[in-house]
Amino acid sequence: MDEAGAEPSFAVLMAGYVVDFHHRSACSRCQPDGSCVRLTRAGETLRAWRDRKSR
Ligand SMILES: [Zn+2]
Repeated sequence: MDEAGAEPSFAVLMAGYVVDFHHRSACSRCQPDGSCVRLTRAGETLRAWRDRKSR
Protein backbone atom coordinates (compact mmCIF):
# COMPACT_ATOMS: atom_id res chain seq x y z
CA MET A 1 0.00 0.00 0.00
CA ASP A 2 1.60 3.26 -1.12
CA GLU A 3 0.48 6.12 1.10
CA ALA A 4 2.68 8.76 -0.52
CA GLY A 5 0.47 10.26 -3.18
CA ALA A 6 1.49 12.73 -5.87
CA GLU A 7 -0.51 15.52 -4.23
CA PRO A 8 -1.93 16.38 -0.79
CA SER A 9 -4.51 13.64 -0.75
CA PHE A 10 -7.32 13.00 1.68
CA ALA A 11 -4.93 10.78 3.65
CA VAL A 12 -2.52 13.70 4.10
CA LEU A 13 -5.30 16.02 5.22
CA MET A 14 -6.51 13.38 7.66
CA ALA A 15 -2.96 12.94 8.98
CA GLY A 16 -2.78 16.66 9.68
CA TYR A 17 -6.09 16.46 11.51
CA VAL A 18 -4.90 13.50 13.60
CA VAL A 19 -1.74 15.34 14.67
CA ASP A 20 -3.73 18.45 15.56
CA PHE A 21 -6.23 16.35 17.47
CA HIS A 22 -3.46 14.83 19.59
CA HIS A 23 -2.32 18.29 20.67
CA ARG A 24 -5.64 18.58 22.47
CA SER A 25 -6.52 15.12 23.68
CA ALA A 26 -5.94 11.39 23.32
CA CYS A 27 -7.75 9.05 21.00
CA SER A 28 -8.97 5.53 21.69
CA ARG A 29 -5.64 4.13 20.43
CA CYS A 30 -3.41 6.21 22.69
CA GLN A 31 -1.34 4.26 25.23
CA PRO A 32 -0.80 5.34 28.87
CA ASP A 33 2.85 6.12 28.04
CA GLY A 34 1.82 8.57 25.31
CA SER A 35 2.63 6.42 22.30
CA CYS A 36 -0.04 6.02 19.63
CA VAL A 37 -0.26 4.01 16.43
CA ARG A 38 -2.51 6.55 14.79
CA LEU A 39 -0.22 9.45 15.68
CA THR A 40 2.86 7.56 14.49
CA ARG A 41 1.26 6.72 11.16
CA ALA A 42 0.05 10.30 10.73
CA GLY A 43 3.58 11.58 11.31
CA GLU A 44 4.99 9.16 8.75
CA THR A 45 2.37 10.19 6.20
CA LEU A 46 3.12 13.88 6.65
CA ARG A 47 6.88 13.30 6.52
CA ALA A 48 6.58 11.28 3.31
CA TRP A 49 4.51 14.04 1.76
CA ARG A 50 6.96 16.77 2.81
CA ASP A 51 9.92 14.82 1.43
CA ARG A 52 8.06 14.51 -1.84
CA LYS A 53 7.24 18.22 -2.02
CA SER A 54 10.82 19.30 -1.26
CA ARG A 55 12.09 17.78 -4.51
ZN1 LIG B 1 -3.87 8.57 19.76
